[in-house]
Amino acid sequence: MTAPGSAHYSTIFKRAIGRVCPACGQSPLFESWCSLHDRCPKCQHIHEANDGDTFGFMYISTVVITGLFFGMMWFIWQPTDWFMRIVMFGGALALMLGSMSYRKSMAVALDYLVRRQFEEGNKND
Ligand SMILES: [Zn+2]
Repeated sequence: MTAPGSAHYSTIFKRAIGRVCPACGQSPLFESWCSLHDRCPKCQHIHEANDGDTFGFMYISTVVITGLFFGMMWFIWQPTDWFMRIVMFGGALALMLGSMSYRKSMAVALDYLVRRQFEEGNKND
């Protein structure tokens, strides 16, 4: 086990996929499917120090998923009847909602990495 704050990038990425604390990897990040714990009970890491810290990543990842579906409809397959359009819309909605906690977990991990890098930079100055 590595000490909190010293994990390698790949370890933090794996923790994000596993939806556990990016700092220690020992406790779940979420109290429900999409609701974050305020802080880690093991290492006391505050998962979202400021409201909106993860907004940019969530926004961009939603735009990417939407773009993938529009691109697929434009270049690969264009649903011609209403039923298939509803199926396509339902698929896009399911992908967005189903991936929400994983995207949020990735956003928290990236925020953690940025903050850790910034704090290390301040120590070296
Ligand atoms: Zn922790």
